[in-house]
Amino acid sequence: MRILDIISKKRDGFALNQLEINFLIHAYTQDEIPDYQMGAWLMAVFLRGMTMEETAALTMAMAQSGNMVDLSTVAGIKVDKHSTGGVADTTTLILAPLVAAAGVPVAKMSGRGLGFTGGTIDKLESIPGFKTTLPANEFIRVLTKHNVAIVGQSMDIAPADGKMYALRDVTATIESIPLIASSIMSKKIAAGADKILLDVKVGNGAFMKNIDDAVKLAETMVHIGQLVGRETRAVLTSMDEPLGQAVGNSLEVEEAIDILDGRGEPALRHVCLVLGSHMLHMAGIVPDVTAGYEKLSKILENKGALHKFSEFVIAQGGNGDIIHNRKLLPQAIKQFTVGSDEQGFVQKIDAGQIGYAAMRLGAGREYKTQVIDLAVGLMLKCRVGDFIEKNQALATIYVNDETHLEQVKTLIISAIKIGSDNALKNKPILGIVDKHGFSAM
Ligand code: URA
Ligand code: CA
Repeated sequence: MRILDIISKKRDGFALNQLEINFLIHAYTQDEIPDYQMGAWLMAVFLRGMTMEETAALTMAMAQSGNMVDLSTVAGIKVDKHSTGGVADTTTLILAPLVAAAGVPVAKMSGRGLGFTGGTIDKLESIPGFKTTLPANEFIRVLTKHNVAIVGQSMDIAPADGKMYALRDVTATIESIPLIASSIMSKKIAAGADKILLDVKVGNGAFMKNIDDAVKLAETMVHIGQLVGRETRAVLTSMDEPLGQAVGNSLEVEEAIDILDGRGEPALRHVCLVLGSHMLHMAGIVPDVTAGYEKLSKILENKGALHKFSEFVIAQGGNGDIIHNRKLLPQAIKQFTVGSDEQGFVQKIDAGQIGYAAMRLGAGREYKTQVIDLAVGLMLKCRVGDFIEKNQALATIYVNDETHLEQVKTLIISAIKIGSDNALKNKPILGIVDKHGFSAM
């Protein structure tokens, strides 16, 4: 088999077979194919697309390029949740203890943040003592004992994806549905989940800017799951404004604790309950999602999930007292209020720009190896549809380094569009994609 033939076959619009895809991914992972040839192949895929069978074969070849985690010794159906990435999206920190408290094992390998979206591992590292890497046997021990464990993604999970993603980033081939779908699904499959729930974000703060593209991506991933025997479902959620109020690592941990403690932003709570209800249903412990939603609401109310969060933090070496004392988390030196320069209704909040503002304060990284400040970020004080007086607070910013302070204030004010029209609130849940297709909500 010759790599040149595989590139030209795809360039000319033909479908590749499984042997060709396996050969390509295996050889690339072994450094036997140079980046320029892989780059040409990725562009051919970008322009020509892939059939569902090709995408499934690509997914499995990428999953098998490294370690395939075996969770079969852990009892129960393991349902993994994956978000395509948003702003003020701290759902994992809420869902993991919530779903675990309901009896579904949650084994997660999470990533770090890049660009304007935050990463669960960075957020967890703001908890004093918390260990985001555990040896495999310790991971299984914590998971078996506490029903939940979250670690950073190691090098051996789908290494082909890491290499290909870096190359896509510099060859303008990120925004391809088969490439995004195989990238996400390969990591989830290698991480050992029996079933996969996807939170596909839609809107200005997300990869998928409109509902049609989001449905296409979701349908592709659900179909891959079917072809490779891992049931997959997707919930489409709005990222037309930040989901919660907090943007920044320790601030998002505080917000997660608020929700677990029965307070906080109702939209964030609702999205967590919907995602969680699907996880319970997929795991077979409730007859339908309505029963799942009710069960999880009760676990929030009786603080079962809050105590599970503390137990999980302690199990991974962290200080479980953070649920009572937020001052144990890293605190920024200064706070500033950003006030509105006009009165009216909030029409729109550009989630991407809010994420960028937090990144400029030091909460996120522009490049992979950048050191971030876990204490800084912002808390939004308004949502789309709210009426705002002139000078009323739009956000509070938490600052250590004031270098970009004025730029950050300007970014926040310009991200929040205020006008005289009475704007409708955003719907947080847009629809579901499962084996029966898309249903709008
Ligand atoms: N997230 C991923 O993991 N991969 C992509 O290609 C895009 C988003
Ligand atoms: Ca304005």
